[in-house]
Amino acid sequence: MTRRITVQHQFVDIVPNTLQEGVVYVCIPYTTAVHLCLCGCGEEVVTPIRPTGWSLTFDGVAVSLHPSIGNWAFSCRSHYWITRNRVRWDRQWTHAEVTTARRREDANRTHYFARATPAPAQSNRNTDTPNRRPTTARRVTQWLRPSNWLRRERRRAPHNGDDATCRPVE
Ligand SMILES: [Zn+2]
Repeated sequence: MTRRITVQHQFVDIVPNTLQEGVVYVCIPYTTAVHLCLCGCGEEVVTPIRPTGWSLTFDGVAVSLHPSIGNWAFSCRSHYWITRNRVRWDRQWTHAEVTTARRREDANRTHYFARATPAPAQSNRNTDTPNRRPTTARRVTQWLRPSNWLRRERRRAPHNGDDATCRPVE
């Protein structure tokens, strides 16, 4: 197995069934990116692109994913950053570090969705306003609808809230 130091990206409407090594498939309709683990182990890594997941940057030439990707559920336990189609390998975390990060991630996600839920109406008046825009909560619900998710999200990737380091992929 050879660790990659660069990747290519492909924007796709649907992620293909067979993935090529070294290609990051960016699927905007499903707000998800998918690639085969860059250590060469062949595991499929899914990184949801959303406020509680990863952010994707495309500068017109190359893509970056932030934060890093920690494949702690794979036997390789690889950990790397993808920045402008380059791969920077990072150290493996200890099990304790991964556990701590997951707890923090769970708390952050709970906090995020609590903030995304609108407060109850103060009054029953003016609640029949027509043409209301979708609320944040509704948009969140749309994300969570299975039809809006990747065709097969076998490796759903939860995220820790560790700001500068890593989101572990389970
Ligand atoms: Zn791997």
